[in-house]
Amino acid sequence: MEKSNGRRVIMFPLPLQGCINPMIQLAKILHSRGFSITVIHTRFNAPKATSHPLFTFLEIQDGLSETETRTDDNTWLFTLLNRRCETPFRDCLTNLLGSSSDSETERISCLIHDSGWTFFTRSVAKSLKLPRLVLNTYTVSFFLNHFALPKLRREVSLLSQDSEQDNLVQDFPPLRKKDLLRILKEKREYLEPYLNMILETTKSSSGIIFMSCEELEQDSLCKAREDFKVPIFAIGPSYSNFPASSSSLFIQDETCIPWLDKQEDKSVIYVSFGSLISMTGPELTEIACGLRNSGQPFLLVVRVGLVKGTEWIEAIPEELMAKVYEKGKIVKWAPQQEVLKHQAIGGFLTHNGWNSTVESVREGVPMICLPCIWDQFVDARLVSDVWRVGLHLEHRIERNEIESSIRSLFSGNEGEAIRESMRLLKEKVGRSVKENGSAYRSLESLIDHISYF
Ligand code: UDP
Repeated sequence: MEKSNGRRVIMFPLPLQGCINPMIQLAKILHSRGFSITVIHTRFNAPKATSHPLFTFLEIQDGLSETETRTDDNTWLFTLLNRRCETPFRDCLTNLLGSSSDSETERISCLIHDSGWTFFTRSVAKSLKLPRLVLNTYTVSFFLNHFALPKLRREVSLLSQDSEQDNLVQDFPPLRKKDLLRILKEKREYLEPYLNMILETTKSSSGIIFMSCEELEQDSLCKAREDFKVPIFAIGPSYSNFPASSSSLFIQDETCIPWLDKQEDKSVIYVSFGSLISMTGPELTEIACGLRNSGQPFLLVVRVGLVKGTEWIEAIPEELMAKVYEKGKIVKWAPQQEVLKHQAIGGFLTHNGWNSTVESVREGVPMICLPCIWDQFVDARLVSDVWRVGLHLEHRIERNEIESSIRSLFSGNEGEAIRESMRLLKEKVGRSVKENGSAYRSLESLIDHISYF
């Protein structure tokens, strides 16, 4: 760490793995530049304080019951969290500011909160005269366009013609109509008011931080600057020198690393669907069968809870399991960034959460896209249609499709072209976070911005 600069930043992540990881990464970056860090977090999905002894962690009560935390409707969960955390958050921040005003050596510069925390962060920070920045953990393109979803939902009948399924959605590029239909099918009763709150809270902030860069989303960044009229910082995706893995909410199975050491270079397909989505037993069986039939070695992450109502992998029939273990390894949670960095990895079958997507780009691993919910559909189209660094399964969870996409990625001409595009994209993104690259300069201006408060 650089010498302390006498300033503290308060960080407030949304309690999901995909939101905690980028917030902790940002905290590590700011800490390396001399800022002290306090993380305010909910009891639900609390980050592991012991993994980050240099930060101060403060827990607030979120009032969620066990049943509420198990809901499928994330918008409802976030709406509840936003209602119930206001008073505990206000009390916590008031205490912090009170004690820091007695300090002669350190003062609190600003609050950085996830874009999913809405109105109350605005009113609390305003009443305490604390500058506030918003960290957005989605792609810029998804963030900009998802405010149009309620309007698109009202027009949904216009979209249902089969012949138009592959067309682009004009209001939501690079999404195709079939992707939009899937997003709109999700249970999101509380969506419209929640999105309005996100929009207002973001517009009135002192700046928006994106974990993206010009090299990945130049047009969307231009549009974000026009739409939001507040400083925008695109500080780059996934810094490999500040790994996110230490903020894992799950126990990582490290045995996959020695297993990977025994595999040939670029031979293994890594398969993971992140921390949130679920699938049916037959879908998991199709995936296991496709992997096995592809003939490539594979590392498959089956998170506890991936298949609802099961303990772990019992949905996969026993006779298939015996064959699966001939070439594959299954773990409950992997040290993903370490895995993607490993020389044995040649491809990533992913749900395209934004963190997984950028981690794959940073390590130059071509992808097979199987998006399931929300922003994942946009990330997958960026990968397959815009950057052309992956194949898209087109939502078909079917053994033959999975087998043939793996074969195409590892041995076909298309795979060759994808690997070359990925090599170039990795280089571009790598340059972006190095001195004088666009993300590097954006990070410098973020640090200046915070230092002026
Ligand atoms: N991750 C991990 N081990 C796993 C699967 C995922 O460490 O076995 C990490 C991954 O590196 C990423 C995060 O969990 O940083 C998942 O975030 P993402 O946005 O990809 O998906 P989400 O969990 O939000 O759906």
